[in-house]
Amino acid sequence: MLLQSYRKEIFRPECNPGFESLHCFAHLEQDVGEVLPFLNAELGGFEYVEEPPSVTFRSQGKIITVHPKMIAVNALKDEAEADKILEWLKREINQAWEKRESIEPSYSSAPRPQVFEILKMLPRTNCKQCGQVTCMVFAAQAAEGGRGAEGCPELDEIQAAKLSEYLSRFFKE
Ligand code: SF4
Repeated sequence: MLLQSYRKEIFRPECNPGFESLHCFAHLEQDVGEVLPFLNAELGGFEYVEEPPSVTFRSQGKIITVHPKMIAVNALKDEAEADKILEWLKREINQAWEKRESIEPSYSSAPRPQVFEILKMLPRTNCKQCGQVTCMVFAAQAAEGGRGAEGCPELDEIQAAKLSEYLSRFFKE
């Protein structure tokens, strides 16, 4: 087993202490640097950085980054959710390490959605019902994984399905 234990640290973001979400750091007792390209290959990392090494995933509205000696997770509801995600990652890290001889390591980032492609699928009325000043801002947020088709009430069923299908090519639920 590569990763055996970690120390969890939970905190509210200092930039917005009233914000109803928690951040979590897991300080790893073992160095998992060598598994990162295998983990990237297995989980389809959104961003892979070689130096200093890290792999970032976007899943269920969260950004999860694994460094050799630390895991960072943002936008958590509570401590129980942090525990669930950290235990899942620990399992994935150890499984990827055990299977590493049969995994082709990946040193590249996943393709990203194009803001302009998303914009073309939006009504482009700048109606602000999504809470953003323009459709372009909404498209930029969607390209980062922060918004989905359900966030734009102006989309009809067909347009919403088309946008959801496009975004699902890049983001795992
Ligand atoms: S609700 Fe939709 S149409 Fe209106 S501004 Fe937002 S993205 Fe554009």
